[in-house]
Amino acid sequence: MNIVDMNVLTLRENLLNKNLKVYEVIEAFLKRIEQTEDKIDALLYINKEKALEEAKILDQKGPDPDKPLWGIPCTIKDILTTKDIPTTCASKILENFVPFYDAEAVKRLKDAGAIILAKANMDEFAMGSSNENSAFKITKNPWNLEKVPGGSSGGSAASVSARQAPFSLGSDTGGSIRLPASFCGVVGLKPTYGRVSRFGLIAYGSSLDQVGPITRTVKDAALILKVIAGKDEKDSTSSPMPVEDYLNGIDELKDLQGIKIGIPKEYWETELDEDVREECEKVVETLKRLKAEIVPISLPHTPYTIATYYIIIMAEASSNLARYDGVRYGFRYSEAKDFIDMFIKSRSLGFGPEVQRRIVLGTYVLSAGYYDAFYKKAAQVRRLIQEDFFKGFEKCQVMCAPVSPTPAFKIGEKTDPLQMYLSDIFTASINLAGIPAISIPAGIGKRSKLPVGIQFFAMPFKEKELLKITNLIEKEIGQLPKPFELERS
Ligand code: GLN
Repeated sequence: MNIVDMNVLTLRENLLNKNLKVYEVIEAFLKRIEQTEDKIDALLYINKEKALEEAKILDQKGPDPDKPLWGIPCTIKDILTTKDIPTTCASKILENFVPFYDAEAVKRLKDAGAIILAKANMDEFAMGSSNENSAFKITKNPWNLEKVPGGSSGGSAASVSARQAPFSLGSDTGGSIRLPASFCGVVGLKPTYGRVSRFGLIAYGSSLDQVGPITRTVKDAALILKVIAGKDEKDSTSSPMPVEDYLNGIDELKDLQGIKIGIPKEYWETELDEDVREECEKVVETLKRLKAEIVPISLPHTPYTIATYYIIIMAEASSNLARYDGVRYGFRYSEAKDFIDMFIKSRSLGFGPEVQRRIVLGTYVLSAGYYDAFYKKAAQVRRLIQEDFFKGFEKCQVMCAPVSPTPAFKIGEKTDPLQMYLSDIFTASINLAGIPAISIPAGIGKRSKLPVGIQFFAMPFKEKELLKITNLIEKEIGQLPKPFELERS
């Protein structure tokens, strides 16, 4: 098997039994990056020399079976700080920012032996669903170069799908891991809010942001989650709940007998692209064949998801982004007349249009006269949305739904911001509720020839159940082939 076609667990096996040298592995992925990057533009920075250097050191020391990711390369969404490696958040305002510390999730990967190959492109400050909001380049979908990879972790998902790396870390505030995972045909896991430390994750919506893995298999997601999850003193919202061994016993389930899977009608009885409906319904048939009990569920506040999410996220973003003032970080307009002029011009030139739109709207919904009408109301509805899920989970262990109403859309197709916001209709409610969700490939749409994803979600901290169930489904429906468009050209 080609090195770049190996998933994390296969690479690990080959590295530990010395079938492969770390140096060989890193070289193979760097070569693959060279071959594919021109076409897909998934990366913002390639950490070539340091990655090769680290590989040499690891090879000299010899395999360490206690390190679960010993010698395994990865890409990291450019929203996570990486020590001595540029971290831009795909924004001009952080263009020359080189952090002096690693995000906690990144540190845990490195402690486990992982090697950072590259920083992945994204929508500026994670605001977007297509990667078109990056200040630097637009990532293309490896399955069809005219389509978006999804966002905001689009570079991460495209890099894993294109075999530039066996896994990546992304962040999910309203769908940003699951949507690109579904558009690019890979696995994306958004853990329970608080499961993974947010230290060093550049803040977008602090009450919603969560770091998670993007991989090609469910088992790889289980392995990575175990490495990055757990309490961190540097993030007071990280949970002290013990971290489970998500891989242990993952193959135990032989069928889904005795497991109730909820089908929320608001997510299914709505306008869905035919490919999405067909592929997702096939998965439901598979669930039935595996003897799961399918339970109809209603989540009645679903229609308020987009309005609620966007009020809360813009409010939090406007407050989080106040720190970029031209004084402390990144870009500063140097010909300003005075302080106010410097502040205004640094922010106006440093932030892109979508980020500015959200800062303005967020400031508005938080302003004295409107706070009660918008922000407070949204916070109340958020609670109702969460209660819908908790009530639903009294009738079933997990629920499943499409990740997005359509497969990947064309670059440039969604010019109206509201159209773009509607891509998050099936994902954002899960962040509002703080629950875990995993997106896995359901199949390739017959008409679009693009991957379609399906997501499974459960009560807080039920990651292990989710991983067990989706691992079984993945075995049953099989993994996707390599993205053909990339191989053809
Ligand atoms: N598309 C959503 C937004 O723009 C979600 C982004 C995310 O999860 N980071 O806010």
